[in-house]
Amino acid sequence: LRSSCAIGVSLGMLSYIITNYRSAFALFCLTPVAGAHNLYLRLRRFLLARSFSLISEEEHSKRVEAIRREVKEANGRVCSNRSGNDQMSLTYGDYKQKSKKVNLTHLRSVFEVNEKERYIWVEPMVDMGDLTSLLIPRGLTLPILPELDNLTVGGLLAGTGIETASHIYGLFHHIVQEIEVVLADGTVERVSRTHKPDLFQNIPWSYGTLGMITAVKIQVVPCKPYVKLNYEFIHQKSEFIAKYEKACRDQSHDFVEALAYSHDNYALMTGKMSNDVGNDGAYNPIGRFYSQFFYLQVQDKMRKCNSCVEYIPLKDYYHRHTKSLFWEVSEIMPFAHTWWFRYLFGWMMPISHSLFKATRTEELTKLYKEKHIVQDMIVPIGTLGDCLSKMNDLFRVYPLWLCPTRIFEKPSDENRGLICGLEDEDLFIDVGIYGTPAPEILKNYDAERDCKKLEEHVRHVKGIQMLYADCYQSRDEFRQMFYHTEYDRLREEIPLTKERFPEIYDKVYIGNRR
Ligand SMILES: Cc1cc2nc3c(=O)[nH]c(=O)nc-3n(C[C@H](O)[C@H](O)[C@H](O)COP(=O)(O)OP(=O)(O)OC[C@H]3O[C@@H](n4cnc5c(N)ncnc54)[C@H](O)[C@@H]3O)c2cc1C
Repeated sequence: LRSSCAIGVSLGMLSYIITNYRSAFALFCLTPVAGAHNLYLRLRRFLLARSFSLISEEEHSKRVEAIRREVKEANGRVCSNRSGNDQMSLTYGDYKQKSKKVNLTHLRSVFEVNEKERYIWVEPMVDMGDLTSLLIPRGLTLPILPELDNLTVGGLLAGTGIETASHIYGLFHHIVQEIEVVLADGTVERVSRTHKPDLFQNIPWSYGTLGMITAVKIQVVPCKPYVKLNYEFIHQKSEFIAKYEKACRDQSHDFVEALAYSHDNYALMTGKMSNDVGNDGAYNPIGRFYSQFFYLQVQDKMRKCNSCVEYIPLKDYYHRHTKSLFWEVSEIMPFAHTWWFRYLFGWMMPISHSLFKATRTEELTKLYKEKHIVQDMIVPIGTLGDCLSKMNDLFRVYPLWLCPTRIFEKPSDENRGLICGLEDEDLFIDVGIYGTPAPEILKNYDAERDCKKLEEHVRHVKGIQMLYADCYQSRDEFRQMFYHTEYDRLREEIPLTKERFPEIYDKVYIGNRR
């Protein structure tokens, strides 16, 4: 009894320290752990770049057979054994506790790189960091390579993925050509636009509720070593929206991104891949360990000029928000942008989202739920101005991430899947809002009430909420936002699906997340 009391007291102390001295804890504990983990990742990616980790298709099939057996022999719910800490959502889904965990985490290999026909076959736990290391040295890249290193292929397909090339290629599932999936009854299917197109179209956004993805065939495209990035700084909302829309519709830009630093201050960035560093702009390797966070570099430029040009190494460009976790790291470690931190500790960065999540105490989780917002809302371009005003009124959190995407599915399509664009508009903007509401808002802030207001607005404009974020909508409202007819039919028709997997809503609703 005495020893369990002692453990209880020590855990209480530890929790107190982590809660009240979060930034010191991050500096002295998380940063070195991250440094060691990053060394391992670098080695892994070094080997992957040299193909040592490529496996044969037979090896992959053996792994799938083991999963197939596990699913077939299961009783009740099943889910992936990926730890809740590793998942990108800020909260933990209750479904994990009630389900049998199927071993998917070892599905982390690539088993075909077809440079001639320009596709790769990868297992679902391969992440974006692995893929940049594998592909860029071969002069290839994914057409859409979502930002953070540890986003996985499975998560990006079952949830969604977006990047600054999405104004050309659409969302992550639009570059997927074939999906291998283990269904609830243990059958293995490879589905595509021509084979079982209804299942192929409904796996994206189904959040792992139609089967276990075991392999994905993804399109790849040639790339160049640098990005020529044009910055333009605009200090009026209506002028920004007009210029931004024009840039998003212009497919001669390889990349389009904007950051809103306030309701009236915007940085519009358009990028083009380049073979060389030209003499019309400065060379800026933003991925160096001592480099300032990218979003702060942009803000600094905005103070100094109206426009400028830079050349950035492609890999650095892809992962420009990784080190700063967009701007979340600055809230936890307010000193992370200072010169002393960058030069002394910068080489150990980034600290992964999982480490922050794994060391979050109950008090911090409560604080996050009540005083912090993390949402991505994808709205039609014509309604962007209203969405910015709504977010400014409700939260006043800046910067905002503005990333364009095409949604090719139309409401009238037979196989449209869970989401669709408008009949006459396929250009949408993902508005990412991450941070603590402004002090004047925080006084009367109610996370549930205010997020519901935002969700209502997004439903009204026929927009979509990303699934990793907490959902405050009722089931009926959620079903208005996502088209469930085909999805429901598939869940009825594929034997055992309803027994093995919950509905999407039950995984994303805030009441079912801790
Ligand atoms: C801080 C932060 C930054 C982000 N930045 C970006 C960004 O830059 N770009 C972007 O596009 N998105 C971003 N996201 C959102 C991200 O796209 C989603 O969370 C996405 O689902 C990927 O997450 P994951 O790899 O951690 O997958 P997970 O969270 O592990 O999985 C997501 C869902 O997919 C299911 N799933 C995963 N693997 C499989 C499988 N093999 N078979 C069946 N189901 C499976 C899981 O059950 C789960 O329900 C961000 C999220 C956060 C919190």
